[in-house]
Amino acid sequence: MASGEGRQHHHRDLVPLAALLKREMKSEKMEKPNVRIGQAAQSKKGEDYFLIKTDCQRVPGNSSTSFSVFAIYDGHNGNAAAIFTKENLLNHVLCALHRGLGREEWLQALPRALVAGFVKTDKEFQSRGETSGTTATFVIVDRWTVTVASVGDSRCILDTQGGAVTTLTVDHRLEENIEERERVTASGGEVGRLSIVGGAEIGPLRCWPGGLCLSRSIGDMDVGEFIVPIPYVKQVKLSKAGGRLIIASDGIWDALSSEMAAKSCRGLPAQLAAMQVVKEALRTRGLKDDTTCIVVDIIPPDNELPSTPPPRKRNKLIDFFFRKKSRDSAGKLSKKLSAINIVEELFEEGSAMLAERLGNDDNTGQSTSGLFVCAVCQVDLAPSEGISVHAGSIFSTSSKPWQGPFLCSDCRDKKDAMEGKRPSGVKVS
Ligand SMILES: [Zn+2]
Repeated sequence: MASGEGRQHHHRDLVPLAALLKREMKSEKMEKPNVRIGQAAQSKKGEDYFLIKTDCQRVPGNSSTSFSVFAIYDGHNGNAAAIFTKENLLNHVLCALHRGLGREEWLQALPRALVAGFVKTDKEFQSRGETSGTTATFVIVDRWTVTVASVGDSRCILDTQGGAVTTLTVDHRLEENIEERERVTASGGEVGRLSIVGGAEIGPLRCWPGGLCLSRSIGDMDVGEFIVPIPYVKQVKLSKAGGRLIIASDGIWDALSSEMAAKSCRGLPAQLAAMQVVKEALRTRGLKDDTTCIVVDIIPPDNELPSTPPPRKRNKLIDFFFRKKSRDSAGKLSKKLSAINIVEELFEEGSAMLAERLGNDDNTGQSTSGLFVCAVCQVDLAPSEGISVHAGSIFSTSSKPWQGPFLCSDCRDKKDAMEGKRPSGVKVS
């Protein structure tokens, strides 16, 4: 191995190895932030559920591969879908990830695994024949990288210590989301308000059949199949200054804007912050709905308090830390993010088309037994059985219908139904 001095001798412009090593050790020390958690709730209907799990390990038995999961499930028409999702979604996501991936590869594979996990959970729950549904806002914190997947309107916001508040989810509400309204209509759904006697229309925009206000959810087998479980996914990497996540059901967001929620609890430790956000929502609007809030502080390891004032030199980092890799649809959000300049955007995708979300695949999709596996439910497929996710899709840009990932016939049926191509076999009237 070449010594640092030798290198320096020949290339004066290179950083000496000793300095590099020192720098690396310092950054390794900074690699693992502290995570502080708070949670508070007020129940009205008993349909809000949450998950806090801080002991997950990418490599079982290796504590340096640990990550945390936080989730909110706001059920409707009963609590069965919320409970089922709480119990199964995490496992389904992890099952869709190959074993033995390093941290970076694992983080890169997460968005697709989240899509598979959401769809599998929905499919399994619907096969039970129960009619309830749920939102799902599912957050994975691995060191400084935050990955959020969501369907419905349980929002996750990020408050960086510079004072900028960004939303890491989109609200899948027909009333507020024009893109989703157009998608539902194009897939054969009708969007309109409830009509009462005399013809007057009341309440928020709903989707018919079913009358759901949300355009995406898990469960809900008695509404149109175009109410899909395909999550919006966003992945960001925080700066070493860290940040605060506030994950909450619409009991909070119907009362408070993202900015109001973040401001109401700044300076408080996580547990008091969660209580304060719930209190503030109740003060504003009263207890009209289940109201659940999780606060997650991701803070530098040697920093005791989450709310130290921002260092002034941060402004000099404009456009340095911010690197955008995703599509233009992120425009609004990335403008906000670039205004704070300390969050690196790694991934964003919100399409409701399964083929777009599962992508192209040349060499994965093969199980250890040598068979192909369904990209959604992970069952083994006989060579003749798998159907490429791209086969016959009008949206397909791939000229390779034999190219993976592959779906089993059940998941293929579900995919077609979600795209409005055919009615699903399972329906409750
Ligand atoms: Zn399948």
